[in-house]
Amino acid sequence: MDQPTLEIIRFIIHYGLHFLAPGIIALLFFRKDWKRAWLIMILTMVVDADHLLADPLFDPTRLSIGFHPLHSYPAILVYFGCFFIPKLRVIALGLLFHMLTDWIDYLFYINYLAGSL
Ligand SMILES: [Zn+2]
Repeated sequence: MDQPTLEIIRFIIHYGLHFLAPGIIALLFFRKDWKRAWLIMILTMVVDADHLLADPLFDPTRLSIGFHPLHSYPAILVYFGCFFIPKLRVIALGLLFHMLTDWIDYLFYINYLAGSL
């Protein structure tokens, strides 16, 4: 597959996981109030505000996990702990799924695009 096609696939997977997958999670696990759960999980995307501290702001070749403060391992541990607090569970799930998405995006990069960007 050529590089532009791979980049389009990466984009679709990345933003599909950031926006659509939380909707599926919300439907499966928060059926009574799935729209609210979906919105909250999408709002956890604000965690990417920590990219503002980085230079360059966005680097498609960089793994955000362990690099940005709100994507650090201690932060992820806090998100994991919040999962066990019922009132924070949806937020924690959104944040944990965000980290998983960023990690999958990086795996896609190193497996299919590394060296070409
Ligand atoms: Zn992120």
